[in-house]
Amino acid sequence: MNNKSVIIVGGGVNGLCAAYYLHKEGFDVTVIDRGTIDNNCSFGNMGFLSPSHFVPLASPGIISEGLSYILDSKSPFYIKPRLDFSFIKWGLEFYKNSNKKISEKNSYPLEDLLKLSRRLMDEIREDLGDVFDMETKGCMMMCHSKEAFEKEKKVAEAAANYDLNVLVLDRKQVQEYEPDVELDVEGAVLFLDDAHIHPGKFMQAMKKRLTESGVHFLYNTEVTGFIKEGNTVKSVLTDKGDFSADEIVLSPGSWLEGLTKKLGHKLLIQGGKGYSTTYDYVEKNIKYPAILVDGRCAITPWKHMLRIGGTMEFSGLNDNVLIKRMHGIYDSIKKFYPGLKIDFPERDKIWTGLRPVSPDGLGYIGQLGDIENVHVAGGHAMLGISAGAGTAKLISEILTDKKPEIDLTAFNPMRFS
Ligand SMILES: Cc1cc2nc3c(=O)[nH]c(=O)nc-3n(C[C@H](O)[C@H](O)[C@H](O)COP(=O)(O)OP(=O)(O)OC[C@H]3O[C@@H](n4cnc5c(N)ncnc54)[C@H](O)[C@@H]3O)c2cc1C
Repeated sequence: MNNKSVIIVGGGVNGLCAAYYLHKEGFDVTVIDRGTIDNNCSFGNMGFLSPSHFVPLASPGIISEGLSYILDSKSPFYIKPRLDFSFIKWGLEFYKNSNKKISEKNSYPLEDLLKLSRRLMDEIREDLGDVFDMETKGCMMMCHSKEAFEKEKKVAEAAANYDLNVLVLDRKQVQEYEPDVELDVEGAVLFLDDAHIHPGKFMQAMKKRLTESGVHFLYNTEVTGFIKEGNTVKSVLTDKGDFSADEIVLSPGSWLEGLTKKLGHKLLIQGGKGYSTTYDYVEKNIKYPAILVDGRCAITPWKHMLRIGGTMEFSGLNDNVLIKRMHGIYDSIKKFYPGLKIDFPERDKIWTGLRPVSPDGLGYIGQLGDIENVHVAGGHAMLGISAGAGTAKLISEILTDKKPEIDLTAFNPMRFS
């Protein structure tokens, strides 16, 4: 236990989980968010907890695949043409990291983090109660084409190197797992170590627990700068006044680059926009969450509730909706699940969120350069929910001078400097 105080900037999954573990360590915790923490990227996502995702986003073939989509307006990948030097710099680093050697090297620490987080989510469920629809039945990697299925089987073979349990299912077997909805797939790989939650319910449950246990929340408060003295930050400047604490944790999601720039260490992050829509009641629903491998989108059931989502759009930090992207997701879902009775959503039912994407697909966890009391937690791209609890636990270990449970070298925030 200690008598230290901490300010956490940003109340997404990383910020709230950091608040949870730091409060347990006796810190006086304040979370500052420019919104009200009820609809950031950590709410409308697919809710997968994915130890299966040991291949980082920056991996061989990702760039050529992305380029092959670029002329298709409904495609799962989009870059808005613009002269943005941050994006160009980020893109060059992404290109440098998308090779076999680096991707394989990064896959092991990534898997360590995902496994740690997966275990912690079981503990959090024990602690908070069964209030966020967590299910531990695994996740299907669904393949429509033979080619995609053959590739996915190779991933299934590689999964043995990471001690993951998988089942390879042919067309007939997959259909047996989904008796109520007609499928049209070549086969699937079921990753049994995966789980899924309702992320919005998780966030609400966390917020409630933290509020009840005395964590302070400053809503509608935007952090605009910092005052430094030597190697420490003395004050956090906001549009509602200045605040100070012994330690600062930065978890502002896709806005990390702008905030760290104010501290003289601009970390590379781009917002990768995704879309989702949620159906409150589907009579004949699917039973397994799934990633549509060659459809590049995903689907998550929670009893009769259903969410579909996906796409990766690099168009800057905004929440503009390109309706064609949602059409792309919907069409893919209907192709894989022709028996699913869902309509295309009304415009106001389409949710967007910005994944904080680093140039190698790994998060940033650790001290920000030479600034002794500022630590970064985030940048996990499409794995923020899967990695949030682990990231937060590691941050709490660093701030209490314990040996972190996993080696953090690969997540060093300064690795591109
Ligand atoms: C369609 C989609 C599906 C996804 N599916 C999954 C999935 O199945 N599994 C998975 O693991 N991940 C998934 N993700 C990724 C995951 O949602 C993100 O990685 C994660 O939510 C990021 O969390 P965060 O805490 O870093 O940031 P955020 O959730 O974006 O929170 C950041 C917070 O910081 C605040 N903030 C920013 N700047 C400031 C400032 N200057 N002052 C004050 N506050 C500030 C913001 O208001 C915001 O509340 C998905 C993402 C998308 C878009």
